Amino acid sequence: MNYTSTRDNSVKVSAAYAIATGISPDGGLYVPENIPEFTYDELVEAAKTDYRERAVRVLEKYLTDFTGEELRECVDGAYTGKFGGENVAPVVDIAENRFVLELWHGPTCAFKDMALQLLPHLLTRSVKKTCDGKEIVILVATSGDTGKAALEGFRDVPGTRIIVFYPVEGVSSIQKRQMVTQEGGNVGVCAIKGNFDDAQTGVKRIFTDPEIASELEKHNMAFSSANSINWGRLAPQIVYYISAYADLMNKGVIKNRGDKVNVVVPTGNFGNILAAYYAKKMGLPIGKLICASNSNNVLTDFIRTGVYDRNRKFYTTISPSMDILISSNLERLIYDLSGCDSARVKGWMDSLAATGRYEVDEDVKAKISELFWAGCCNDASTQETIKTVFDSRNYLSDTHTAVALNVLGQYVKEFGSDVPAIIASTASPYKFAPAVLGAVASDKVSEDEFDMLTALCDVSGVEIPAPLAGLKGKAVRFDRVCDGSGMKDTVLDMLGI
Ligand SMILES: *Cc1c(COP(=O)(O)O)cnc(C)c1O
Repeated sequence: MNYTSTRDNSVKVSAAYAIATGISPDGGLYVPENIPEFTYDELVEAAKTDYRERAVRVLEKYLTDFTGEELRECVDGAYTGKFGGENVAPVVDIAENRFVLELWHGPTCAFKDMALQLLPHLLTRSVKKTCDGKEIVILVATSGDTGKAALEGFRDVPGTRIIVFYPVEGVSSIQKRQMVTQEGGNVGVCAIKGNFDDAQTGVKRIFTDPEIASELEKHNMAFSSANSINWGRLAPQIVYYISAYADLMNKGVIKNRGDKVNVVVPTGNFGNILAAYYAKKMGLPIGKLICASNSNNVLTDFIRTGVYDRNRKFYTTISPSMDILISSNLERLIYDLSGCDSARVKGWMDSLAATGRYEVDEDVKAKISELFWAGCCNDASTQETIKTVFDSRNYLSDTHTAVALNVLGQYVKEFGSDVPAIIASTASPYKFAPAVLGAVASDKVSEDEFDMLTALCDVSGVEIPAPLAGLKGKAVRFDRVCDGSGMKDTVLDMLGI
């Protein structure tokens, strides 16, 4: 299986090359040349195995330059003993036809772990296959969850270094604490005076700075990326939709061959829901893909009208991992739906860069409305949903998952659907404790993050995840702060070159 670029069909690279380098030089994203099939018979067989075996069976269809043995090593390294209980991604039955797929039992309590625990294993092997001997430097700009998950995934991975920049005022205090106390000999963390865009712009500038590139070259190092434009982050996400369906077969929810489920995903950069789209295209019986947004509802409008327009107010919400106006992975969807027409995609992306807007053609619009449905909800409705679901179902959801539950409610109200729905749950409620506590017991909200973890535990009876409880006693290792212009020196200094 080869990979090509969404902006230039003449590109042809291996999976290992796509993973090692992250993004195509033309600015496009790497996509598989075709989407492999996962047959119903394979699904029946997969249902008899565990998450890791299912992962190998899905990944071997995409990463054909890896041996089965290599994939098994990668998957075992990523998922064995790191995701709480037996089941890496458990499906929890919260109401009739509502199944919450909990993706946050990994070391940083957000769904980013599902891919970022595996990516370092895939990346180091990809580097061996394509540019052996180089030390890889991962640079990350984060608004919270990605930074911590990437640090935890790459910590002490031989042949890699990782440096994370976060906006000094743009992350929650739990998220900050998770990062500044990070352990490991190959990690670095620095705060940026500014917002997430400043951090992101600074990182992009360093990636393309010829001076720093030659400095790295001299020391036999090279940059790579751990964000969701990397195919190595997307492929692992396809697995859990297939695994969830297999679990529903085992639970007897799926009774007949081909019975459909709807999938609801709280969406930001469009990576998670794109993985569900690929699973459907592989043959998984998914009905509608329901895209849920917060007040930053650029995707809701796009799915409803075919017009993508980022020229709008940016809201800071209680579901901050979805506060995003440019959903990078949408490019992969419109590439596929346009019949792999890289010239058309390039046109739309050029228009987005120049004007902040593009409109897809009628053929693509028609396919989008057949496959997807979209809705959004604001902070007040998100908190109302957390409270209602907790009071009526005794299920505590985080703010992002609550957006998905709310939007599913809207869908069911409009269409009266009785198709079972899988709701992707993307974070532990404890990761966003102030907003969750505010929803279920507003009188218990206080100044201290750790008091609020305890209060939420008292109210809900849900155990505080050990990685978050353990933060309290951890020493701060990184207190460095710089402005955008100081990022380059920070990188060189942290690398010791
Ligand atoms: C990253 C993130 C999302 C958004 O996922 P995308 O793949 O970017 O659409 C949703 N919820 C949480 C908690 C996240 O960390």
